[in-house]
Amino acid sequence: MRIDLHTHSNASDGTDTPAELVRKAAADGLDVVALTDHDTTSGWAEAVEALPDGLSLVRGMEMSCVGLGEDGWPVPVHLLAYLFDPADRGFAEERERLRAERVERLRAMAERMREDGLPIDPDAVLDSAGASAGRPHLARALVEAGVVPDVGSAFTRLLAPSGPYYVDKADTPLRRAVEMIASAGGVSVLAHTRARKRGRLLAVDDIRELAELGLGGLEVDHPDHAEPDREVLAGLAAELGLLTTGSSDYHGANKTIRLGEFTTDPAQFEELVGKATGVPVIVR
Ligand code: AMP
Ligand code: FE
Ligand code: FE
Ligand code: ZN
Repeated sequence: MRIDLHTHSNASDGTDTPAELVRKAAADGLDVVALTDHDTTSGWAEAVEALPDGLSLVRGMEMSCVGLGEDGWPVPVHLLAYLFDPADRGFAEERERLRAERVERLRAMAERMREDGLPIDPDAVLDSAGASAGRPHLARALVEAGVVPDVGSAFTRLLAPSGPYYVDKADTPLRRAVEMIASAGGVSVLAHTRARKRGRLLAVDDIRELAELGLGGLEVDHPDHAEPDREVLAGLAAELGLLTTGSSDYHGANKTIRLGEFTTDPAQFEELVGKATGVPVIVR
């Protein structure tokens, strides 16, 4: 069984359509794939429609949250949400608020660039984004305009929080997000929570409190996790009774990682499915 529980389509900041993504997942020999676009479920229907025989689909999302860092200051945190009921009113409204934040924030970043004389058209950048606008859409526009050679250098030179054009957005407080996902029948898993190259880390004591509020698991095997941090996370999961996952965080051509490069243990996957009451896994 090969199970990849974290991927992005062009419903957010990946480059494959949801249909292309599930076809690639089957062609690459995956048995289970989760579609986890940022703050949107808008890719779900197309992925279900195109789901090839032999592949199971986990409908999910990666939610933009804010937690408390090791240094006591707020830190951005990504929370994977699986198999929740998309019709849950409170949760649906929060997703909509997050997407509106994304649009305003990306427009503000693009406008700062234009004011600075960079060849960026804010409307065109937003048009190029699907349901969920993100910095990778601005990164691609910068590449296409010849400002930077690739998406990676757009981030290091221009789009990083410490960079000249960064604008913050108001993400969901992490504890509230964990509770919302649980009350929508879903299972929450902290994504790449010890990815040091992305910045400061979430405080471990915060993770202990989240476990009490209904956090389901920790993403342990992730391309941005160094081996010692995987061990820390596996130890924490054992201590707190959380499940562990492994995933590629595939973004199509926006990142170099391949589908299925990291995978989830089948027993952990079974446990995750057993905890969810929102929507079922779709089996083809
Ligand atoms: P946003 O959600 O708009 O804040 O943008 C964050 C997204 O940008 C992440 O989900 C990644 O897909 C992408 N990203 C972050 N850092 C990098 C990087 N150094 N290189 C390429 N993509 C990145
Ligand atoms: Fe992303
Ligand atoms: Fe993420
Ligand atoms: Zn992701």
